[in-house]
Amino acid sequence: MKQSNTFIPTMRETPSDADVISHQLLLRAGFIRQSTSGVYAYLPLGLKVLKKIESIIREEMDKINGVEILMPALQQAELWKETGRWSNYGAELFRLKDRHDRDFALGATHEEVITSLVRNEVKSYKKLPLTLYQIQTKFRDEQRPRFGLLRGREFIMKDAYSFHATEESLEQTYEDMLNAYTTIFTRLGLDFRVVIADAGSIGGSGTHEFMALSPIGEDTIAYSDTSSYAANIEMAETSSEYEKSTEELKEMDKIATPSQRTIDEVASFLNEDADKLIKTLIFNIDDELVVVLVRGDHDISDIKLKNTLDAKSVELATEDDITKLLSCEVGSIGPVKLPIGLKVIADHAIASIVNGVCGANEDGYHIANVNPDRDFAIDKYADLRFIREGDVSPDGEGEIKFAKGIEVGHIFKLHTTYSKPMNATFLDENGKAKPFIMGCYGIGVSRILAALAEQFHDENGLKWPKNLAPHDVHLVLVNSKDEDQQSLADELYTILKSYRYDVLYDDRQERPGVKFIDSDLIGLPIRITVGKRASEGIIEVKFRHSGESMEWQKEELTEKLQAFFGLS
Ligand code: ATP
Ligand code: MG
Repeated sequence: MKQSNTFIPTMRETPSDADVISHQLLLRAGFIRQSTSGVYAYLPLGLKVLKKIESIIREEMDKINGVEILMPALQQAELWKETGRWSNYGAELFRLKDRHDRDFALGATHEEVITSLVRNEVKSYKKLPLTLYQIQTKFRDEQRPRFGLLRGREFIMKDAYSFHATEESLEQTYEDMLNAYTTIFTRLGLDFRVVIADAGSIGGSGTHEFMALSPIGEDTIAYSDTSSYAANIEMAETSSEYEKSTEELKEMDKIATPSQRTIDEVASFLNEDADKLIKTLIFNIDDELVVVLVRGDHDISDIKLKNTLDAKSVELATEDDITKLLSCEVGSIGPVKLPIGLKVIADHAIASIVNGVCGANEDGYHIANVNPDRDFAIDKYADLRFIREGDVSPDGEGEIKFAKGIEVGHIFKLHTTYSKPMNATFLDENGKAKPFIMGCYGIGVSRILAALAEQFHDENGLKWPKNLAPHDVHLVLVNSKDEDQQSLADELYTILKSYRYDVLYDDRQERPGVKFIDSDLIGLPIRITVGKRASEGIIEVKFRHSGESMEWQKEELTEKLQAFFGLS
């Protein structure tokens, strides 16, 4: 491709509204352009990378018997009403009306459409399992579209859905997907982790997210420094065993702690470690007030709380609720002498506290030498706290570290969440109608383009891996007015094309400085410069990843290139 013919609008300045490096570089290198907030056009270079990402995904989906289809983006509200999501999905769903005043949505996801399709066409267990997938544009009116392609309002997703007669069959496909996703992200060269995630209201035995590691990631991952264990921090299990001091139990002692409200204030006022303090919080859980205890140096994970109690909603109680219940401020709440009937649940670490400190349920007072089970009753112990860096990894191997991640994929067991309300059934071996057991599996295709740019760049621009680069080779003609240079560059362009390299040929009449800056910005793996020594048949070669440069004789070019691309 001659650069004079194509459309690569590079920019020198960093656009002021792009605050992450991937967004800046994809704009500056001319891969994408914003149309409006969260909506982008893919220019030739961006589209080429996108297609390479898609082709890796297709290959791996096809290997596990996924079958590609393409579903409509325009979806009738009736389907969404069947699952209740027309009202539940909220403002993220783009809604519109047709000329007959009928409601429609632009597809944010396709569970309803595919369940309806399969409901109409698949009647027997003999046709199962079935895995269908598509690569398609999704629409979500995100509250905060940002970071360019990372959180768009119109974006490209690969979504797959599987249909099964049995849970075992779902299990098998889920496992296949997990492996296929691992292969996909490995082939994409991403530094990523497979993370245990929260199944949310859908429940089930687990769901995994695939996180590309990056400091700008919106999710925090807890991972082991020696094993493959990784989980969302809200989910990472913590130990139920804590060392307990053998100190003798002392009598409770009420002490004045004027204006000491936070754990840190109380700990330093009493000269105690925070792990001696009992943090007491009151939650409103499905409209019931519940007392939750964690150690002073720990924090409560709402998700764990919700899962432990199998609750629908978990919120901190309002100050009003608390005052009505205990007539003291939040900073003085404690578990001793609580009103009868109030449920108390505690994190496992509470059981190991000896002669601890808690609020006295009276403003300005705490109680010292409190001992769980002696001085107050606990209805249930559970794993309720956030894991911390330095904790032992839940699989017993290594220490927990934290990292930020960009969610690039998510696999999910849906079971019958959609098939039941939509009455999507098949006939089993005994001729009995049963709801399809389902799974769904998403990959953020356009988000990956940005995640790659986050991981593969330097201060001069992008640095594409060989298998994803928009072109293989950047051929740069330094001076088009020099006949030797022009004819050698033209000759090499022809040769390289005949060897089937995808060459980007910078034949523009631009200054060399401009060409080199653009070339680094675009970031093809190898640059071949035809310059001053063209008359001697010598070209300059520069490797984008190592920064190394050297001179080659033109006769050596194809052989050395084949070695570089691992083709020889
Ligand atoms: P997030 O928590 O980041 O909003 P999600 O849980 O809503 O993601 P899914 O519904 O599981 O995402 O969608 C599957 C994949 O699509 C995600 O793993 C992500 O890679 C991608 N994705 C989701 N929302 C967006 C978006 N607004 N822009 C770009 N990609 C997205
Ligand atoms: Mg989302």
